[in-house]
Amino acid sequence: MPQARAAAFLEWVEAQELPSDTIAARARRDAVAVLTPAGAAGREWDVVAVAGVQEGVWPDLRLRDSLLGSQALVDVLAGRVAPEGDGVAPADGAAARAAVLADELRSFHVAVTRARRVLLVTAVSDEDDQPSPFLDLVEPCDEDDDPRRTTAPAPLDLRGLVAGLRARLEDATRRGEPDDGAAAVLARLADAGVPGADPDQWHGLAGPSSDAPLWPEGQRVPVSPSRVETAGTCTLRWALEAAGGTAPSSTRQSLGTLVHALAQTFPRGGREEMLAELDRRWPELGLGSGWPATLERRRAEAMVARLAGYLATAGEPLAVEARFELQLDRAVVRGTLDRVERAEDGPGDADGTPVRVVDLKTGRTAPSAQESTTNPQLGAYQLAVDAGAVEGLPPGSRSAGAQLVYVSDVNRSQAAVRQQPALGPDSPAEPSWARSHIEEVAERMAASSFAATANALCDRCPVRRSCPLRDEGGQVVG
Ligand code: SF4
Repeated sequence: MPQARAAAFLEWVEAQELPSDTIAARARRDAVAVLTPAGAAGREWDVVAVAGVQEGVWPDLRLRDSLLGSQALVDVLAGRVAPEGDGVAPADGAAARAAVLADELRSFHVAVTRARRVLLVTAVSDEDDQPSPFLDLVEPCDEDDDPRRTTAPAPLDLRGLVAGLRARLEDATRRGEPDDGAAAVLARLADAGVPGADPDQWHGLAGPSSDAPLWPEGQRVPVSPSRVETAGTCTLRWALEAAGGTAPSSTRQSLGTLVHALAQTFPRGGREEMLAELDRRWPELGLGSGWPATLERRRAEAMVARLAGYLATAGEPLAVEARFELQLDRAVVRGTLDRVERAEDGPGDADGTPVRVVDLKTGRTAPSAQESTTNPQLGAYQLAVDAGAVEGLPPGSRSAGAQLVYVSDVNRSQAAVRQQPALGPDSPAEPSWARSHIEEVAERMAASSFAATANALCDRCPVRRSCPLRDEGGQVVG
């Protein structure tokens, strides 16, 4: 009930008929009680089973109350923490996590001390799940060959039967031993239509549906400047993202689009005008009201302030959102430049207008100054300017360099600027590095197979669940 008032919520809660009430009222005295640790507190039974003591489940170390800080408020009121500044205790991640661990330990202690005669604590250890360290508190074990371990049989259903037969068949095949009849039983099950019994349904057995290259020899490969870096780092990520494996658009990306639109509407800046436009267009984000929207609004205003600060001292804008198409030997690069400014110096002094390409960034992490000198996206933009391929620029414009302008760094009051020198002899890399890099990336994009290459961004890769190098993507390894 997103827009409802509190009274409506209370009415809805009161109208609920909770089945647990009826069950509790009718429970027999000798029935098994299924309870949470808090529900079991203060009571005892002869036999108690504490089930599912898994890593990540117990202890569950996710911070509670961290968003609205109610635990911090309780700590202040209880005198455990001194209030600071405006009265809100500072968030201390380590202390908060220690407090959660202590809570989880107390809760576990309550659970395992309910038994009068027999205590059974269970956990599963398999490819996906590991037992919790809490298990060692009940019965410590240092041995590799853990005597507490027992092998659980497959479940007594068709799915368990098929899984067991497949495992036996695979095991025998791997050892080069004769099949003990598992294949025949699987075939009968497959004839009867049992799911998973037919090898046609087995994951990873099908061959490639095609080994043709994505782009035939001699045909130009369309390359987006913003994707050159991804494709140059890991072609598998590029290929899967190009095929739709991208994360859904987030509030942050929508906000970034809005900030780009403001930069386009106000190429000469003006903080107050930009904030007024932000106010007018804010409903486009559809964030509604409430604290998440308030937080995003503060972020947006800080980004606009940094953008306005940059534009106040930036060069004269010659073009914004300028499109280009650049034909190379193997690649055709198409894109849009956020902004092109008149530069004070550079190779165009003598024979044309020196310009500087500006790419506005609303992501949080700026690359290092060194990395930026060979940023492929900026390199592609500079190539396009030098080739005269950018719409709306004065004839003879020559790139005097390019820069990334980051307006989202919460630790800075000003935009972070990362520069790239002009292409050519002044470039710290080989003079034609940008062109060679794009041509090489285009060749890789046109291939028939795409390699996974581990890199620093793998942890945030949107297709890591389909990557053979990642644990999450283990299922794609045949
Ligand atoms: S997780 Fe890393 S190696 Fe795998 S596809 Fe993504 S970027 Fe490439």
